[in-house]
Amino acid sequence: MSRTIIIAGNWKMHKTISEGIQFLDALALPTETKQGFEVMLFPSATALCSLSNHRPELSYGIQNIHEEPFGAFTGEISATMAKELATVALVGHSERRHVFMESDQRINLKIRAALQANLRPMLCIGEKLEERQQNKTEEIVLSQLRLGLKGIKITDLKQLMLAYEPVWAIGSGLTASPDQAQTVHALIRRELKNMGITDTPILYGGSVKPDNAHALLLQPDIDGLLIGGASLQAQNFSDIIALALELLS
Ligand code: PGA
Repeated sequence: MSRTIIIAGNWKMHKTISEGIQFLDALALPTETKQGFEVMLFPSATALCSLSNHRPELSYGIQNIHEEPFGAFTGEISATMAKELATVALVGHSERRHVFMESDQRINLKIRAALQANLRPMLCIGEKLEERQQNKTEEIVLSQLRLGLKGIKITDLKQLMLAYEPVWAIGSGLTASPDQAQTVHALIRRELKNMGITDTPILYGGSVKPDNAHALLLQPDIDGLLIGGASLQAQNFSDIIALALELLS
């Protein structure tokens, strides 16, 4: 399979519609569609519609979905509703796991809901600092992966994407070194292969910036980047896109 690179920005709870439009107007994108290259944005749910109408050449994702298809869940958004505005859904982001206390079981239900609605789920997994220090990275990452996908038919997982985001690297300014990230990505790739799942893009996330993006993307099992803080500034995000494009050409 030829190389595919995905550069994704997770805006979390930042940017109104007008701020998002300003960002898009300042963003430097390739002038023509590049095979095997995708730029993806996860803005707030309230901005999805306006932003995707403004620059439809990007892919758009939702940051979270509810696992039920409909019902009395005030404030929540179902996968079917999200599908009207987005093609991707983040599932199990570290802030959902650790701030909103989402369990692996609930994350599994959300993956199922996304697939049911024909949304591409991007499952996020990663260990906390104390888990890494106790040499539990492999155990935690594999367990989150297995529980997240438990019981789902392999043939239904063609649309799956993965993001490895060590919790200690998110928003902290500490990035996993390219070697550390590659080791975990290779582990995830092997485990997916053992499950019979191939061709799944595996993105790295956690304090990615223009100055570390290149070395991370050079790793053979890093297929893209999921960027929080540095995706909020059009210049930084454009610089990372340009670095990625260089690797494709
Ligand atoms: P960060 O966030 O780039 O600010 O570390 C990454 C993420 O949470 O997806």
